[in-house]
Amino acid sequence: MKKSELLLLQDLLSTPKNIVIIPHKNPDGDAMGSTLGLLQYLNKKGHRATVVSPNDYPKFLKWLPFEDFVIKYDLQNQQALRLIKEADLIFTLDFNSLSRVGDMSVILEKSSAQFVMIDHHQQPDDYAVVTYSDVTICATCQMVYHTIEMLGDKDLIDADIATCLYTGIMTDTGSFRFRSTSSLTHTVIASLIEKGADNAFIHEQIYDANSFSRMQLLGTALTNLKVLPEYRAAYITLSQDELDEHNYQKGDTEGFVNYGLSLDNIKIALIFIENKQEGIIKISLRSKGDFSVNEMSRSHFHGGGHTNAAGGKSDLSLEDTVAYFISILPQYKDALNE
Ligand code: 5GP
Ligand code: MN
Repeated sequence: MKKSELLLLQDLLSTPKNIVIIPHKNPDGDAMGSTLGLLQYLNKKGHRATVVSPNDYPKFLKWLPFEDFVIKYDLQNQQALRLIKEADLIFTLDFNSLSRVGDMSVILEKSSAQFVMIDHHQQPDDYAVVTYSDVTICATCQMVYHTIEMLGDKDLIDADIATCLYTGIMTDTGSFRFRSTSSLTHTVIASLIEKGADNAFIHEQIYDANSFSRMQLLGTALTNLKVLPEYRAAYITLSQDELDEHNYQKGDTEGFVNYGLSLDNIKIALIFIENKQEGIIKISLRSKGDFSVNEMSRSHFHGGGHTNAAGGKSDLSLEDTVAYFISILPQYKDALNE
């Protein structure tokens, strides 16, 4: 964070404020961990803070400390609108563009509150008075830790805050294995464990909470896995019918894309998931090394993210989306075979 922005943030937080904290739509572990960690810190500092999520999040996150206080914009619309209207300050966490909150973006654009962005995605938009953006940091949760540290309040991090921040760092680094995991990350993690984050318990809550039907859906996803060796590419499709057949619940497909990437000699993996209700194909992209799926998603799939992990969508049918993906691969052939 720039010195001038840190001073401004200190100033903004020097008197009690009405604060709304917002994760991106379909929040993941990092989005929920960072917003809930920041929530508790700000309330301890004497502010009136609330987390307003654009929509619901998966069951495997529904144990995080204070998650039952989260207001869902789509389900609790009046309450969410009132909180946003009354807000002096709005923190947006784990996303880089207001379009990432879905319908809620219209309300945020109209708000007269001052915005603070804390985020690690590439190419952040310019809507905040404080933009703490660092694409080298593995998780927004680590940035919330640094924010609290820069504000001189590390002592306020208790076991519940530590639990939230640990969770997001763990999920966004694939349990500390992705390239973005630095020695500083491990230092932060060590401090969070000292402050009371129970690492074994958190891993169990997130990773050992599978339903039987999710495992069956994974079976279908692996059956549908295709490999394109000349492009070192792998992809999975899941149709709406296949999701319905396995009683799909939000979050069930989390991590499936990584199975493609785990194949020997594969450099890029995608999963295409049909969503009939929204009329889109949701796409997750993953890569190894310097190949940027952020660039591929921005250029072809209306999305973005990080170099090695990005998301996007397509308005075509599932079949046509896959055909389109295969049609663009020749332009990436050299980069994928480097
Ligand atoms: P996932 O594939 O797990 O949904 O997302 C991978 C990464 O890309 C995450 O950091 C996520 O925030 C980001 N991402 C996912 N979907 C989109 C999207 O539609 N647009 C942008 N800009 N980023 C996305
Ligand atoms: Mn994140």
